[in-house]
Amino acid sequence: MCRHLAWLGARRTLAEVVVDPPFGLMRQSWAPRRQRHGRINADGFGVGWYAPAVRSEPARYRRAVPMWTDASFASFAGAVTSGCVLAAVRDATVGMPIEESATAPFAHGSLLLSHNGRVDSGILTALLAGRPDAPAPDSRCDSALLAALVWERTLAGAELAEAVAEVVTTVGAKAATREAATDADGRAPTTRLNVLVTDGRQIVGTTWDETLWYRRGPAGVLVASEPDDDTVDVPDGTGSGRGREAPMFQPSASPGGAPF
Ligand code: GLN
Repeated sequence: MCRHLAWLGARRTLAEVVVDPPFGLMRQSWAPRRQRHGRINADGFGVGWYAPAVRSEPARYRRAVPMWTDASFASFAGAVTSGCVLAAVRDATVGMPIEESATAPFAHGSLLLSHNGRVDSGILTALLAGRPDAPAPDSRCDSALLAALVWERTLAGAELAEAVAEVVTTVGAKAATREAATDADGRAPTTRLNVLVTDGRQIVGTTWDETLWYRRGPAGVLVASEPDDDTVDVPDGTGSGRGREAPMFQPSASPGGAPF
C-alpha cells in the first residue's frame, strides 16, 4: 500500500507539507507507522499542487524513485508554495508497472487523485468498457483505471464527492461479488479502496481497509494516511495504576514521555 496526504488551507511550501513534519510523508516513505499492508513506499512518489492565480490545472511532479533519493525534489520543495497540495508515496502492487505514469497523483483538468490500495484490473477494465466517454487511463496500473472512472463521472456532471462515492461503491460491490465467488477458502478480501481527491477547493477521501487521519486547525485541514507529528499512541495495557484516572506521563522523562 501507499501513503498519501492532502493539504487545504494557508499557503505552505511543499517541504512544510511533505518533507519537514517529523513523521510526514517523506519519513512514511521508508518508515510508515500505521500502514497495514506493506512496509516501505519506495516505488515512486508524486506531488500535485495548485497555483490558482496562474491557472486552474494543478502542477505535478512525479518520479518512479524513492522520495528520499530525489535531489531535484529536495531542491525546489522549499521554494514552491501552495494552498492545496496532494501527495503520495508508492509501494506498487505486485504486477503493476513501476513508472512515472503509474504514480499518483493522477490528474484530469483541475482534479488530482491518489489511490492507496488495490483492485482487480479486470473489474476496472470491464467498467471502463461500459463507459466510452471515460478519458484514456495514463497507465495500466489499477489506480490509473480507477481514476479514469472517477473522471468519467465528473464529466457526466457528478459533484466530486458524488463521483468518488459512486465509483468506490460500484467497484467495491463488484469486487465483493467476485471475492465471494472465488474465495471459498475463506481468504480475506483483497480489494482496498482508499482514495484522496481534490479540485483545489475541497478534499474528498475514502477509507477501505487502510488507515486515514485528519487534523483540522485554524490554518487549514490535513487529511493523511497517518499522523505526521510525534503524537504518541498509548500502548494497549498502559495505565497509571490509579484507578479511574487517565494514564499518567512523567514530564520530559524520556522522548515522547514514558508511561509509568
Ligand atoms: N495499486 C496501486 C499501485 O500499484 C496502489 C498501491 C498501493 O496502495 N500500495 O500503485
